[in-house]
Amino acid sequence: MATVRFNALNTLINREAKQVKREANLTSDYYGKLVFNRPKMKKYLSVDAFKAVIDAIDNGVTIDRKIADQVAIGMKAWAMENGVTHYTHWFHPLTDGTAEKHDAFIEHSDNGGVVENFAGSLLAQQEPDASSFPNGGIRDTFEARGYTAWDVSSPAFIVGTTLCIPTIFISYTGEALDYKAPLLKVTNLIDKAAVDVCQYFDKNVSKVTANLGWEQEYFLIDEALYQARPDLSLTGRTLMGHASAKDQQLDDHYFGSIPERVGAFMVDLENEAYKLGIPCKTRHNEVAPNQFELAPIYEEVNLANDHNQLIMDVMKKVARHHGFRVLLHEKPFKGINGSGKHNNWSLSTDTGVVLYKPGKNPKSNLQFLTFVVNTLKAVFDHQDLLRSTIVSASNAHRLGANEAPPAIISVFLGTEVSAMLDHLETAVVDRKMTPDEKTALKFDIGRIPEIILDNTDRNRTSPFAFTGNRFEFRAVGSMANCAAPMIALNTAVANQLIEFKKEVDALIETGIKKDEAIFQILKKLIVECKNIRFDGNGYSEEWVEEALSRGLTNVTNVPDALDAYLSEKSKDLFVRNGIFSERELEGRTEVEHEKFTKKIQIEARVLGDLAINHIVPTAIQYQTTLIENVKGLRDIFSPEEFEEMSAARKDLIKEISCHISSIKLKVKEMVDARKEANKINNEREKATAYDETVRPFLDEIRYHIDKLELVVDNELWPLPKYRELLFAR
Ligand code: ADP
Ligand code: MG
Repeated sequence: MATVRFNALNTLINREAKQVKREANLTSDYYGKLVFNRPKMKKYLSVDAFKAVIDAIDNGVTIDRKIADQVAIGMKAWAMENGVTHYTHWFHPLTDGTAEKHDAFIEHSDNGGVVENFAGSLLAQQEPDASSFPNGGIRDTFEARGYTAWDVSSPAFIVGTTLCIPTIFISYTGEALDYKAPLLKVTNLIDKAAVDVCQYFDKNVSKVTANLGWEQEYFLIDEALYQARPDLSLTGRTLMGHASAKDQQLDDHYFGSIPERVGAFMVDLENEAYKLGIPCKTRHNEVAPNQFELAPIYEEVNLANDHNQLIMDVMKKVARHHGFRVLLHEKPFKGINGSGKHNNWSLSTDTGVVLYKPGKNPKSNLQFLTFVVNTLKAVFDHQDLLRSTIVSASNAHRLGANEAPPAIISVFLGTEVSAMLDHLETAVVDRKMTPDEKTALKFDIGRIPEIILDNTDRNRTSPFAFTGNRFEFRAVGSMANCAAPMIALNTAVANQLIEFKKEVDALIETGIKKDEAIFQILKKLIVECKNIRFDGNGYSEEWVEEALSRGLTNVTNVPDALDAYLSEKSKDLFVRNGIFSERELEGRTEVEHEKFTKKIQIEARVLGDLAINHIVPTAIQYQTTLIENVKGLRDIFSPEEFEEMSAARKDLIKEISCHISSIKLKVKEMVDARKEANKINNEREKATAYDETVRPFLDEIRYHIDKLELVVDNELWPLPKYRELLFAR
């Protein structure tokens, strides 16, 4: 019998939902309890230190050493009152996830004992020996020093007994080795570019913030079953498994009632999230069985991204307390929906206006249209770059699988906004407009209603959709760091806003009135980027053809898609706007190619091991039973009877033999392909070799294993089956 599998099922059957106690009845009573937020800063810092920190957060003013010392003292006092003994610089290297190295607060004291200490210098900067983080050749190991530096704009928080200080991670020579450093640069860039454009409409605007509201999809799998699936625990996805007779055909999981054990997990998770100041708002069942979603209220993009990175970590920890494992992989199961992370993105002003929300008068609506049209143009111009920010070995499964087509980037606007852009295109004439024409156009623009989310968008097939007050980038992978797409999107839009302002100002210089200049340039942009607009079914075959005829790009493999980071257009965009140097871009792209290779390499190794050491022996064992059975039949029946009775069984013995031989052969070929690919030094070429010569074996070998699963005795099958992983709870 398959002991591990059946023991796991037994464990699962006996599990009960855990009783969860919320920290307090009212969320507002404990929200942010573990965060060194403004109220706590006010309480624990001197007036001067508090002012300096707020100035740093709101206006980017740098903090000097003396102030840093004071902040460190206040932070330490607060942390120690909460049982904290250690601190860490918490950062986002270019791996999946975050990094931390804990140091105790202690130092030697004069009398031979120790004393708690935490100097401002330790708060502000550290030099972890971080030579093992991916850097794409930026740091040679003998010059491995990188350092982490305090990000004042994201508040420190406590996890367990550790004070976590959000930091950026840069090389000794100043190159960013993380996701946060460039994201912070981008928030400044878009702020300035958007404020300049807002000035056409409202002189009171002095700051524009980029916002992000992520929707995190995930699977929950029982811990015992997870442990019985080495592929899940080592690669995050099932490398084999025949489809369950029932999975998501009936759509009965989506928004269904939440299973009790899962409900307890969610309450516990939210409890922890609230203490960390993460504003969780929505929870529900997703489309696939055992798939769920969590979404917070949107926040400033850098903070929102820290919160997303943090919550992925918290989810993993909390899940284990409930006998679950969280799967953040984009495609844990073949044939059923994978997980994504919709990035809801908008810009808003310090005057309280969301720039993607239609206003109430012609002026505010013209501002709204200005931002929409410039965003369209940015997405149109940088479609290849945007694609490159969301591709990965794991997201590739989902993106190819009729779920979130990234291969072609298009923008959904909905009928109302589309109609308004079409109207602008015809109403703005090439000659100088008459006062009547202008008045009429302004009147029409003033009538854009509050956008009711267009019904046609309910199919959710657009990778980049306007949803009433924001754009939603839906191709982002569930385990991705949102910073990658957010850096590219905000840079592209900022760059476009800068161009827009230049062009409008140039027209104004020639004596054209401001409004008309804006109309003229908007019309020009609408015409230029018309092809990116598509409200139809993004999953259809026809769209692939139409997109091609429109000149939109369609790149379906990961190594090639990643090259867009290094196109002249992308380099120019990033370098000119001071977000990445060429060296940083090259380093980053190399890291991505390397990650792709390694993920496929690990999957190939795990599959080879499971196939040869788990599946083949099981198949042989069952086949031996069949052979014994056939021999027995021959002993007790006449030759005629035997022939008739054993025919089907003999066929099955042959079938099993064929699958076993194929598996053995393919595994050998896969190992050979890997050996060949490993000889390649260039990371870019190696990624292509892995993509073209190794990756196909994963499907080929799986095919035979899944066929065997259908015929081998259920009692013998060693790995938990899809129906168990997806429905046992
Ligand atoms: P849906 O599933 O319909 O897209 P959800 O409520 O699951 O909606 O998630 C929507 C996300 O979008 C939430 O995180 C929400 O806070 C965020 N959001 C709403 N308005 C904005 C906005 N103006 N800018 C950025 N994010 C927003
Ligand atoms: Mg959404």
